[in-house]
Amino acid sequence: MNLLEETKLVLRQHGFSPSRREGQNFLVREEVIRRQVGYAEVGRRDVVLEIGAGIGNLTRYLLEKAGKVIAVEKNPVLIDILRKRLGNRENLVLIQGDAVKVDLPFYDKVVSNIPYSISSPITFRILKRGFKIGVLTYQKEFAERLVACPGMRNYSRLSVAAYYYARVRVLEYLPPGVFYPPPEVTSAIVELLPKKPPFKVNEDLFFEVVRSLFIHRGKTLRSAVIHSPMFPLKEEKKEFIKTLGETLSKKRVFQLTPEELASLTKNLERWKK
Ligand code: SAH
Repeated sequence: MNLLEETKLVLRQHGFSPSRREGQNFLVREEVIRRQVGYAEVGRRDVVLEIGAGIGNLTRYLLEKAGKVIAVEKNPVLIDILRKRLGNRENLVLIQGDAVKVDLPFYDKVVSNIPYSISSPITFRILKRGFKIGVLTYQKEFAERLVACPGMRNYSRLSVAAYYYARVRVLEYLPPGVFYPPPEVTSAIVELLPKKPPFKVNEDLFFEVVRSLFIHRGKTLRSAVIHSPMFPLKEEKKEFIKTLGETLSKKRVFQLTPEELASLTKNLERWKK
């Protein structure tokens, strides 16, 4: 029996119909699972976090390779199925809850096919905590925003944040058919390698600046500053814009490099003092 047949059988046995809203698309291609775990070089010394374990297709393979697997799943019925299928494995810690909020124990690698609706909050959550390597499956468009460079159509807040925390690259694209039921979108396996921040900056202020400027991503920096309430008020704004220099203030927000955004943040911090 192949993994697709096994998945259908397990779902039938438990009378479980996957919900699109909860992102329940189970990976049913053995070779994709093997490659994904291989990318993360999972071994006996590793404690691996898996977000959204589903019926445990990836979990089962992770358990063969890792020292320990922390599997988080929100749906109580799926937790039951996971317990029945894999509950006897000593190196499995099952956590029922919302992966965005639930307390997480120590882990050093993250390997997951996540529900796409929590892509952004879960990525920020794990990046802020740090780890050795992450190999995660995202919706293709999200993956492309993660890796986008300044000036690109999909360069966004997310790209800046990803650049700040990690080296990020797309490892491969996955057609809908490797999942059951197949989602409507193409997916991408992404590698996240956390790194030291590329520059020193007041982090909270930096991300606030990035958020408020990217609301006006197509405007010039000058005009974005004028329209953002977080920058100095009225007359003072003009003075502040002068500190940025002519060249920078004429650039569009989506053309600004993370370094330029950081230097702007420093100007703002000085201004506030
Ligand atoms: N990793 C599994 C399942 C992927 S489907 C596989 O590859 O086969 C994504 C899973 O995430 C679903 O089982 C869904 O119930 C679960 N899920 C959805 N929202 C979640 C959340 N906020 N926290 C944890 N799990 C969640």
